[in-house]
Amino acid sequence: MHKRNAILLLGIFSIIILIAAQIIIIKGVWRQKDEMLNLRYRLFCQDAIELLARQWSTDGFDTARMIIGSKSKMVLKMMAEKKTDTLSAEEKKDLFDYVTLALNKEEDLSAFLSRYFESRGIDKDFTSRIVINRFELVDYDRRIPVYMSEEFASRMLARSDTARRNTPPPDMRRQARSNEIMIKRFGNEYNFYRLDFEFGIDFSDKQKMILREIATSLGLSLFSIILVVSLFIVTYKNLMEEKRLSNLKTDFINNMTHELKTPLSTITVAGRTLEMPVIRTNEEKILETAKMIGKQSVHLNQLINMILEISMWERTQFQLEKKRVRIQDFLNEIIFSFKSGGGKGAVIECKYDFGDLEVDLDPIYFTTMINNLLSNAVKYCDTDPVIEIEGFIRDNNIIISIADNGIGISKNDQKRVFDKFYRASSGNIHKYKGLGLGLYYVRKIAEAHEGDVTVSSKPGKGSIFTITLPL
Ligand code: ADP
Repeated sequence: MHKRNAILLLGIFSIIILIAAQIIIIKGVWRQKDEMLNLRYRLFCQDAIELLARQWSTDGFDTARMIIGSKSKMVLKMMAEKKTDTLSAEEKKDLFDYVTLALNKEEDLSAFLSRYFESRGIDKDFTSRIVINRFELVDYDRRIPVYMSEEFASRMLARSDTARRNTPPPDMRRQARSNEIMIKRFGNEYNFYRLDFEFGIDFSDKQKMILREIATSLGLSLFSIILVVSLFIVTYKNLMEEKRLSNLKTDFINNMTHELKTPLSTITVAGRTLEMPVIRTNEEKILETAKMIGKQSVHLNQLINMILEISMWERTQFQLEKKRVRIQDFLNEIIFSFKSGGGKGAVIECKYDFGDLEVDLDPIYFTTMINNLLSNAVKYCDTDPVIEIEGFIRDNNIIISIADNGIGISKNDQKRVFDKFYRASSGNIHKYKGLGLGLYYVRKIAEAHEGDVTVSSKPGKGSIFTITLPL
């Protein structure tokens, strides 16, 4: 039990480590691909920007800068008229919005990039993104900034604050969004303002592009995980199955020893009895003892034959010697001899009428099959056994069911009772003697006749075994 748990825990632990390692590897590959993709498109774009500068002597923002320039000049003029150095919050917001709008609307770089991509055969939709890092109005005469973009002003504050505390400054650069590729940073001082902004492009399907590129490694990773998990499950199941079989075998050996010992010890005692002078003169006693020895020898022989036959079946497919029999008479005969043998005291109700129907079957095996079911019905019964045997024809099959009022079989055991050596848990205590072979025999014989056998049962109520054989 301990060993089994340790193996299970070790297996689960290794699988978790494997999955964690795969996740780390895939994350690394993803990051690498992402960086490569960024680099590739950044290079493309920079190439395009150079081309634009060479062909048109512009960086694509000339119109925007011109508009922002005249707006800044206007605001500065208005401030001069008002004789003020500051702007109201609303004015600042208006100015900043104006700059943002002008940059986004009046830039020519995106359109050029689009055409450039097309000419290079890159069929990708992208949106451009401009982020202003810094905007300042500059009083041209006094050369001092009079207004800074709010964001920049607060960053300046943060920077001086941290500098004072001697800690490294926080990363001032805006965190790039996952689909975005930063292309170029533009910054300069002009007549009436200073402007610093970043231009980036955004592929909506960048994640998909990466996914496509790493699909093979991702697939292999997943496959290896699935493979290892399934291997583990199969190995573990096999281990459990082996353990179960070895337990069954141990039980079988114990039960068999027990079964063999009973007739053997009776024979030994009988032998000793015969040696006694008192008995030797009593003919009646001698006969009785001899009969007992004979009966026990037959039983012993039966047990040994059964074991031998089972091991023979394992090696070869056993041959049926089929004969045509009138099933009604044949069943009656089997039941009659059972009643006068091991089934004494059992009430057997026969509810079948096959009339003159003749069936091809192996009489010896068929008898063994019915006998095994009948003797189990008697053996596994704590009260007076009442057995009902029903029989009918359905869909060209002959169906025989044997119902008892015995101890019944739990749902779990029902799945296993036909297995070799299997005994329901209560059967392992020697209250009910047996080797766990009877039902195994029944199933083998039914299958050899190309039929099958099933069980339905309620613990405490009784069981019904149903044999179906094709006609
Ligand atoms: P054995 O009787 O030698 O143990 P079998 O193969 O005949 O082996 O039966 C397997 C197990 O199925 C038995 O140990 C018993 O627990 C259960 N079983 C079989 N027949 C019956 C029945 N009629 N009622 C209750 N339990 C049964």
